[in-house]
This record gives sequence, structure tokens and C-alpha cells, in this order.
Amino acid sequence: MRLFNCACHAQGFMAQAVFAPADGAGAPPLPPASGGAVPASVLDDLAAASRILAQQGVFDAFGHISIRHPTNPKRFLMSRSLAPALVTADDIMEFDLDCEACEARGRSGFLERFIHGEIYKLRADVNCVVHSHSPSVVPFSLVGAPMRAMYHNAAFLAQGVPVFDISEKFGATDMLVGNHAKGAELARVLADKPVALMRAHGSVAVGPSLQHGVFRAIYTEVNARLQIQAATLTGAFGGSIAALSAEEGALADAVNLNVVSRPWELWKERALKG
Ligand code: MN
Repeated sequence: MRLFNCACHAQGFMAQAVFAPADGAGAPPLPPASGGAVPASVLDDLAAASRILAQQGVFDAFGHISIRHPTNPKRFLMSRSLAPALVTADDIMEFDLDCEACEARGRSGFLERFIHGEIYKLRADVNCVVHSHSPSVVPFSLVGAPMRAMYHNAAFLAQGVPVFDISEKFGATDMLVGNHAKGAELARVLADKPVALMRAHGSVAVGPSLQHGVFRAIYTEVNARLQIQAATLTGAFGGSIAALSAEEGALADAVNLNVVSRPWELWKERALKG
């Protein structure tokens, strides 16, 4: 077991006791308490997932994946701000759902960690969040063409893929989900779906486990490529795209939910070989 010992928590308490005014005004807020020890294998898998998504072309120098704390649903685990292919278990930080670090130790979290915290607040069924700028997906955030499920591996997309346009509520911005309000609005648009696109930015994929989150992020990227190819063919030769129906998607996704460990083992083996 690798422990998140909250030494800084204890130190913060002592500092407050020594330096805070008698009425407590002006005292620095204490960091949130850790949700408890996390098995080393969980941290290793989260680091591996970050490397997998980089190797599979979902992440580049940017992108991040998190998991909900395995025993405390009000905490989540996520790398410090770092290129995803470089993440190791030692880079994993713990946050509360307001995205405050339990034990920063000088490390900085990702600017867009609010995507993760706000989705965990809204979605009790979600235990993994992936945010990427996965390149084939971005065009679907721009042109108003709905992303549809092209094949059974991407069956989860048959539930519908909403698009979060940050300008609708926040006007002209830097496009980043860098605060609670923007994260909450993205989570609202995602609603009960597994994937949402983010206009002129990227996408978010969620799942009930780390393996499902990785699976969905990868197959969202692959599906986007297939849909662009299918649209090219229908543009050249006519006809329409016979995507999965909602019913077919539900049936196929039920199968996928039980087989994600097979691609996971393959991707992990390749990613850890570098
Ligand atoms: Mn981003």
C-alpha cells in the first residue's frame, strides 16, 4: 500500500494554531483531509492509463485522466500538471470535489481539473473522467454534424453526443474550463451521457471504471475517423450512413462493458514497454 499521508494537513493545523489571530480571521484554509490510503496498483494503473492514451493518439502533450478515490467518493486522483506520456504513480495527487489538493507538496494540478471535480459531483455513476483534444473528434465540435456510433466498439455513442459550447454561457473566453462555473456547465451539458464534445477544444469521456474511461476515450477517437470516412463515401457516392440505432447501441454496449479488460491488458502491455 502506498499511503497519502497528510503530513501537510497536520503541519497546516499547527501553523494555524501558532500564527492565526485569536478570532481565526485571516487563517489560511486547511487543505482537505485525505480520503485514505490507495493501493499502489491503483496508482500504477492510473499512470499506465495516461501513457496508454498518449500512445493511442488520444493525448498529446495535453490531456488528463482521473479516477474517483476507491474508498471515498468525495475525493479523486489525478496527475500533477505534466505531459501525459511522462506520468508515473508518484505524480498522482488527491483532490476533493472542489479540486483542492489534499497534499500538494509543491505540485500544481491541471488548470482544467474542474472538468473532473464537477462531473464527479453530478454523476455518482462515474468513476473515471478523461479530457482530451483528441484530434479527429474536434471537427464534430465545430460543424453541427452529430457524432454517431459507426460500429459496435463505439456503441456507447449511440446514446447521443452533446456539444458544450463555452460561449453560450460565458461569451468570449480562452476556451479553457478553468473554474467551477465552467466545469459545472460542462457537466450539465454532458448530463447522463458517456461523451460530450467541447466546441473548438476537445472532448470528455466518462465511465464507471478506469478501464471503461480509457476504452471510451480511445473508441471515440476511432469512431470520429470512421465517421469522417463514411461521410466522405456518402458525399462521393450518395446514400446515408447506417449508424447504430439507440437500441443496437444499448445492446452492443452491454457486451462491451464486460470485455474492456481484454483491450486494456493489450494497451497497458504496449504502453509500459514504451
Ligand atoms: Mn483542454
